[in-house]
Amino acid sequence: MTDAAEKDPVGPITASPEAAAKPDVSSATSKNAAATPSAAPAKKASVTPDDSPTGSKKASAEKKRKKPASGKKKRKKQSGEPVPLTNTPNGDLPAFLKSAQQPAYRADQVRRWLYRDLTSGFHEMSNLPAELRKKLAERYTPHGLLPGPIQQSEDGTHKFLFNTPDGAPVETVLLPRRRGYALCISSQSGCAMGCPFCATGTLGLIRNLTGGEIVDQFLRGRRHARALGSELESVIFMGMGEPLANMDNLEQAMGRLVADDYAGFGARRLTVSTIGLPNRIPRLALWPWQVGLAISLHTADDELRRQLIPASRVLPLPDLMRDSIAYQQTTSRRVTYEYILLGEVNDSADQARRLATLLQRQLCHVNLIPYNPVPGLPFVPSVAGRTARFRETLESRGIAVTVRKPRGRDISAACGQLAAVGVATRSSNPGR
Ligand code: SF4
Repeated sequence: MTDAAEKDPVGPITASPEAAAKPDVSSATSKNAAATPSAAPAKKASVTPDDSPTGSKKASAEKKRKKPASGKKKRKKQSGEPVPLTNTPNGDLPAFLKSAQQPAYRADQVRRWLYRDLTSGFHEMSNLPAELRKKLAERYTPHGLLPGPIQQSEDGTHKFLFNTPDGAPVETVLLPRRRGYALCISSQSGCAMGCPFCATGTLGLIRNLTGGEIVDQFLRGRRHARALGSELESVIFMGMGEPLANMDNLEQAMGRLVADDYAGFGARRLTVSTIGLPNRIPRLALWPWQVGLAISLHTADDELRRQLIPASRVLPLPDLMRDSIAYQQTTSRRVTYEYILLGEVNDSADQARRLATLLQRQLCHVNLIPYNPVPGLPFVPSVAGRTARFRETLESRGIAVTVRKPRGRDISAACGQLAAVGVATRSSNPGR
């Protein structure tokens, strides 16, 4: 495993609690405070240098302090409990099969059932001897994430609510597209970045997801899409959490999503969405897979950006643009800038002009995302006229723009609403 701390001395950073709790978006807060007097303060934002599967010492300490958002007591892992196969990509399955006096090719068969046939259990592995299936079921479980309810929106969006075995909630969203579905995957339970407009941000970081837990979301989402008679068209890491704050596990998961002897999903159909952390985008550019990059920008004004994304202070806009342009040049891929339009905060004509100036001559595309209100947070969507003018300003400067259609608002699955509570009743990342 790469030691991210060595490679990437981000160091723990914190946004001042005051800044996080009271973003100086006065027009928005004053305008909306009356409507939402119980605005919850955002959690203190922190970035840790540790991407390890179990998290840094700081993350562990934080984990100890926090109860799982599900409200359930964390369960201690018992020895002899079934091991999730997706958590053990190179684990002890070959040794286990050998001890069961099975030929080595059985490992390939199991892997195929898991990653290609998207099995839900060993009982489906019809080309394995019944006795072996029984032994496998005693030793392993196919997935680590425990499935919860699946909610369906009237617009065809599906939201999956999972729990990790230790009680951390995870949400995954399946979104209808023209030729299938897009799957929005979480990389962490909760998030430490502290964006005051985001439901996930209010949870704080609960913990990093393991590579297996990231893969599990893909396998279950793909199985569900197939059950609906369709396929996954694309996958975006834009659910709960900041993917590049959990980079080792993300990389491990990505390897299995892409490899032909695992899921075999095309790398160009995968996109990682990030606020941008020091040295992480350059590291992404070195991956052997040319995945898409989406950057959550939300403003071209560094000062306002620090208020909207407190953790962005570790990578000011000039540095972020340097990394983004280098990524465009290295991969020859267009970068997407995500811009959530917050009414009277970042949707003015002047903000649009600043954005156009920042992005001119880049190989890029801008997604304008209507804000999906989160109860208790003091932000409102941009009104139609301001959104249209914002878009026109960008287009008049030659920048490709799409105004995204909100999906899954009725089940709190829209961008920015993921914040699993209890058995996960809400979830959303408004900004990414
Ligand atoms: S918008 Fe993204 S980075 Fe910000 S708190 Fe929400 S999940 Fe984290």
